[in-house]
Amino acid sequence: ERTIQVIRNRIRAVPDHPGPGVVFRDITPLMEDGPSLHAAVDALAEATKDLDYDRVISAEARGFVFGTALAYRSRKGLVLARKPGKLPREVISVSYELEYGTDSLEIHADSIPPGARVLVADDLLATGGTARAMCELVEKSGGSVAGCAFLIELAFLEGRKRLSDYNVVSLINYS
Ligand code: 5GP
Repeated sequence: ERTIQVIRNRIRAVPDHPGPGVVFRDITPLMEDGPSLHAAVDALAEATKDLDYDRVISAEARGFVFGTALAYRSRKGLVLARKPGKLPREVISVSYELEYGTDSLEIHADSIPPGARVLVADDLLATGGTARAMCELVEKSGGSVAGCAFLIELAFLEGRKRLSDYNVVSLINYS
């Protein structure tokens, strides 16, 4: 609990970003402070330690920070989910809804072997669109989702509902 408070104190609320009425949760102060970053990664690792997974998937850019740390710590491989056009070989692609329009995420077609169990990791769960797209990429590849882990959950956006098929863990909740 004390650890969670230390981490929480390093997350800055930025009013009206990226638009009016939105409170952006800025995690750069957390990442810039060594002990806080370390504590956040350890807490995420602890929260996911009972999940059985072979690989971690995360989306650019902040997601890579926590995905990499979890993969390194658990000695598992990391799959990079990227914005369209970044990956050099054959890809699997999934589109998802944004407030205005759509976006897509891609992984290499051979990144997730059939039957692999994959942990979805991101810095923050908002509407769940990003995480849901990663889950679909895993399943399109023939793998299965071992769970979804987030440092922060904006519970009032009900992203969990879009991930109701999966085991979801988060450390810090804003309601
Ligand atoms: P969703 O797809 O769940 O609506 O949005 C989650 C994605 O958007 C995450 O990849 C996250 O990095 C980014 N995101 C949305 N809102 C915030 C926020 O307030 N703070 C941070 N750090 N990331 C956000």
